Amino acid sequence: MVNKKYLFKYLIDKLYEKNYLNLDELVFILDNVHIYGREYLMEKADETRRRYYGRKVYLRGLIEVSNYCRRQCKYCGINALNKKVHRYRLTKEEILRRCQVGYELGFRTFVLQGGEDSYYSDNFLVDLIGEIKDRYKDAALTLSLGERSYESYKSLYMAGADRYLLRHETINRELFEEIHINSNYDERIEALWNLKEIGYQVGAGFMVGIPKQTKEDLARDLLFLKELEPEMVGIGPFIPHRDTIYRDERPGTLEDTITLLALTRLFLPKALIPATTALASIHPHGRELGLRAGANVVMPNLSPPDVRKDYSLYDGKVSTGYEAAEFRKELEESIGRIGYAVDMSRGDYIEWERAL
Ligand code: SAH
Repeated sequence: MVNKKYLFKYLIDKLYEKNYLNLDELVFILDNVHIYGREYLMEKADETRRRYYGRKVYLRGLIEVSNYCRRQCKYCGINALNKKVHRYRLTKEEILRRCQVGYELGFRTFVLQGGEDSYYSDNFLVDLIGEIKDRYKDAALTLSLGERSYESYKSLYMAGADRYLLRHETINRELFEEIHINSNYDERIEALWNLKEIGYQVGAGFMVGIPKQTKEDLARDLLFLKELEPEMVGIGPFIPHRDTIYRDERPGTLEDTITLLALTRLFLPKALIPATTALASIHPHGRELGLRAGANVVMPNLSPPDVRKDYSLYDGKVSTGYEAAEFRKELEESIGRIGYAVDMSRGDYIEWERAL
């Protein structure tokens, strides 16, 4: 009979060496990590991150451009069916103004995120992207505006957008269909491959603790990431929102999210992985623990302060204190205190094969 404790450590070491485990091995880790030690897993993840990125933590200024959305994602507070949301969208001038504020604060990546809002046509965005890239030549631009056609992604890339964040949310088709009313699983996955093909640095990712999600689902999320090889991976706990049908569901836990972050770091050693706002929202030390588990990006809120409360994806979302871009210095100090160092450069994915 195999000693489970021994097997656990053996598998973590194997993952550390090979950056891969199969489905059964992963499920074993997820089933036993609370007994045999999340510490060891986190240590190995941190070591892996340090090998590629040292102690660096990159900051991105997150501008939440619009909370209008045509989608009806059941978990999301700004879904089209929620009539209680006070809707807003930023004009071109307002977005440029926030970039300027961010640039002066030292940010060299701007992330434009929003609901799927048809106001942001290709023409509008091409014009906006051109303007931003023209003004801030040493800054990277990331988009996170949901699903668009191949041609649309292509024209935004040609206009100068560098990166695109589009979480797959869950790789379990049934679960995906259960939590989305008017989205299509195949289209979501295809959009990710399209973004890769066009040349974007791509961010995929998933929520941890979605109602009915199993450990096997999470293991398969990791295997999907290994196949897609995204440059960025966003992982956060599911958190219920009071105006959605999941209002009474239990949120994903800090422990599970940390475990999945650490496993992702070991699967994709070079990935840029944020300690997400959702993680910071469920626990006062969420962000620090995320960094310790292998995350190396933080995305402070750079939206106009008066709209932050309206970009309410889940309850209790923090957009003040260190999560606010204005507190960049304080955030930098707090990251320094736990042994990491903020790096304000663009922080691109490092193509080690080419760099070496
Ligand atoms: N419309 C864009 C941006 C979505 S918001 C898109 O489709 O990509 C960014 C992320 O917030 C989503 O991908 C989702 O994973 C996360 N999110 C939304 N509602 C959430 C909730 N209730 N709890 C935790 N994360 C949530």
